[in-house]
Amino acid sequence: MKVVTRFAPSPTGALHLGGARTALFSYLWAMHTNGRFLLRIEDTDTERSKQEHTDAILESMRWLGLTWDEPLWYQSQRKDIYTHYVNVLLETGHAYYCTCSPEEVEEMRERAKAKGEQPKYDGTCREKGLSYTQGAVVRLKTPHDREIVIDDGVRGTVRIHTKELDDMVLCRADGMPTYNLAVVVDDHEMGVTHVIRGDDHVANTPKQILIYEALGFTPPHFAHVPMILGSDKQKLSKRHGATAVIEYEKQGYLPQAMVNYLVRLGWSYGDEELFTMEELIQYFTIEGLNSAPSAIDFDKLRWINAHYIKTLPVEYIAHQLRPFIEDICSMNTITATHASTRYMQCGTEEEYTSLLIDIVYAYRERVHTLVELAEQSICCLLHYTALDYSLVPKQAEKGKEYLVDIRKELEALSSWTHDAILSLLQDYMKARELQNKDVLPSLRFALTALKGGPDVPILLTILGKEESLLRIDRFLA
Ligand code: GLU
Repeated sequence: MKVVTRFAPSPTGALHLGGARTALFSYLWAMHTNGRFLLRIEDTDTERSKQEHTDAILESMRWLGLTWDEPLWYQSQRKDIYTHYVNVLLETGHAYYCTCSPEEVEEMRERAKAKGEQPKYDGTCREKGLSYTQGAVVRLKTPHDREIVIDDGVRGTVRIHTKELDDMVLCRADGMPTYNLAVVVDDHEMGVTHVIRGDDHVANTPKQILIYEALGFTPPHFAHVPMILGSDKQKLSKRHGATAVIEYEKQGYLPQAMVNYLVRLGWSYGDEELFTMEELIQYFTIEGLNSAPSAIDFDKLRWINAHYIKTLPVEYIAHQLRPFIEDICSMNTITATHASTRYMQCGTEEEYTSLLIDIVYAYRERVHTLVELAEQSICCLLHYTALDYSLVPKQAEKGKEYLVDIRKELEALSSWTHDAILSLLQDYMKARELQNKDVLPSLRFALTALKGGPDVPILLTILGKEESLLRIDRFLA
């Protein structure tokens, strides 16, 4: 039997880390088994569901590389199908109309609570055999004498007695199906074989199994994954930092890092930490999911991201870097000199791309995010007049005296290559018995107006002769 999994978000907000991880697990299990991965937008709550949230969820899924099998399903377009199955349940005596008002039901629940019993609907309309009237809801005739046994892929065997369950509402007074009804109908109709979801749904599973049974359907396999906790082991929330996946894209994380990080929050494969998507597809199993909750660890995410910045092809990283460079140019005080940034003057697209590639080579060992990469390397892209030399570090001030001579030698250099520049600098220092620290901090500051940065010969190579000399002149002036 072909495995079919699904991710079924409600579009009431952005895609958060927990949801993204559930989607990833479902995707991986489908890919591992050569099955299908479905995406279903559960938008029956018309008040809280928003198209902009659906768009944001789809964007996050695409960013993470979680490609779903077409078509993309929307529950709001399937109301007739749900109504059909509600009618089947009514006709077969598994469901009944109930005319109790919400206030009456609330009173029943209060009365039960006062008696120390489970607060639930007391079954007033259960045996009345009512036909449809306006405002009636449809309830499931929950059997009172059953034990439901769930073989959960993560939690193991879970047993629930039906006397703990309510005669749940299947169809609201406005004709809209409830979540439990719609999810069962859809998972059945779409051939879903494995439901992997957050354990906030664990209490819904026995209810859904009752609906499966009443309709004569075979339930899928369930696996409920534990919540992601904050670094303080409390429920993950805004105060732990960004929880929306797309925020991480804006903060300069790579999707490869995010996927790798998310999968490790709840799945393990020996002691290995780093996996490509291909490896994940090969190794992922539901048995590998942990039943203990995992806590978020942003240092780990940064570390993984740094790994991917260092190891993915430079051309790819350079391409990913572009929007961050452009952001800095358009956002901050550089705006005034924006038009004079070097990359604008670079001329051709190829020249700009090759400059970005050089920058990635020079900086990728030093950064954890694309934002850091852009912030640290932007000095290479700015026009020399945009550099701010007003705060000269002591070490840079000290070495200034050598720069006039070095500039002359650099100007005379016939081949502007890394090796030629390196030997020029080494010869210069050797002849005068100088050390790196006497000369290089000053030269680096002249080139970048920053204290730290890549090796000076690399910087000189990236900047090119003309730009380098202009920068040295400006610093000296
Ligand atoms: N729509 C539900 C949610 O977003 C998920 C339902 C499910 O996975 O069964 O929480």
